[in-house]
Amino acid sequence: MIDLRSDTVTKPSKEMMEFMMQAELGDDVFQDDPTVQLFEEITAKKFGKQAGLFCPSGTMTNQIALMVYLKPGDEVICSSEAHIYNYEGGGIARNSGASVRLVNRKSGIIYLEEILDNINPDDIHYPVTKLVALENTVNRGGGICYPIEEIEKIASYCKTEKMPLHLDGARLFNALVKTQIKAEKMGSFFDSISLCFSKGMGAPVGSVLIGSEDFIHKARRVRKVLGGGMRQSGILANAGIFALENNIDRLSIDHDHAKIIEKALLKCTWIKNVLDVETNIIVAYLEDGFLASDFIEKLANNGILAIPFGKGRVRMVTHLDISEIDVARVVDSLKF
Ligand SMILES: *Cc1c(COP(=O)(O)O)cnc(C)c1O
Repeated sequence: MIDLRSDTVTKPSKEMMEFMMQAELGDDVFQDDPTVQLFEEITAKKFGKQAGLFCPSGTMTNQIALMVYLKPGDEVICSSEAHIYNYEGGGIARNSGASVRLVNRKSGIIYLEEILDNINPDDIHYPVTKLVALENTVNRGGGICYPIEEIEKIASYCKTEKMPLHLDGARLFNALVKTQIKAEKMGSFFDSISLCFSKGMGAPVGSVLIGSEDFIHKARRVRKVLGGGMRQSGILANAGIFALENNIDRLSIDHDHAKIIEKALLKCTWIKNVLDVETNIIVAYLEDGFLASDFIEKLANNGILAIPFGKGRVRMVTHLDISEIDVARVVDSLKF
């Protein structure tokens, strides 16, 4: 099967597994695991941040960040398409007890003027606006990169107002490779960033939350409460270290593959439109009257897996386990 359901389906390579086996281990809840500490440190440093926290998933790194910033009665501003709102099990309400102010934007990109329009006045009727959260790349926007000029504007406003700014950077490395923006520059705009290593980066497990020393100190407490304190997790952290060294630059290959599939989809009679492919995510709209489930079944019969992405929409994601030959097979199979 050519599995394009997500970039989370990648399996660790033999080289990555061998590197994992060499990890020096300790009990990370006692902060005794040197490999976890090294991974947190190099990830944080790369983005110019003071500290990092290794967690089992990107949902956890996002939710921990939100829990550090928010309490009941507070409000976070984000896009209506944001992962933190749509795909984390209602975690903002459940874990932080905070309310969410959604900016409606199909692209998943929200602009400073919209953020300003949604900040509540200091009036007891309203929840207290406490946080702005962005996503890069934007998953539901078809993997597009957040325009850097917009990030700059939002970050500059947030700094002046002392409003924290969080980034869900599950696929931030894809955005950095695509835009050639330096990690340190990107890091300078945000108070905290959540980074996933179990997607295009190819690790089996793991996300890292980065921020200031003080922020990560608080985050470490929250991680323990959520049951995310792991013991000899250096074996997993070493997969992340391997990914940082070996799997960043090659993301451009996934982007090229996605472009090739985009072109083939546009020629397919079932497809009306494809969101402009910038990185490794392809979101295709079916012609009116066609069902995503039928399209997906047709692909499955050809040995290709994709997922429905809302009504009449299908998503495919390229990743490091998809070869040039696989891409050619996908292109061939789309000739209907
Ligand atoms: C995958 C993803 C996450 C985190 O997901 P986990 O499966 O919990 O690691 C967060 N945000 C975005 C945009 C994602 O795509």
